[in-house]
Amino acid sequence: MKSMQEQKTFRCKDLGLECEFEEKAENENELMKRIEGHVQTAHQMNPQEPETQEKIRKAMK
Ligand SMILES: [Zn+2]
Repeated sequence: MKSMQEQKTFRCKDLGLECEFEEKAENENELMKRIEGHVQTAHQMNPQEPETQEKIRKAMK
């Protein structure tokens, strides 16, 4: 199920975090790039880790 046109949204709340951060992009990879910095600095998560990346991707809508 891949669509290049579908916009993706990520909210920290969907990870169960007490955070109002929200970001949108045209696809998962672009969205990942945009939220990497935030999750690293604000939540001390490592988006390079496969487990963390999977968790983040699952939270994308
Ligand atoms: Zn956050």
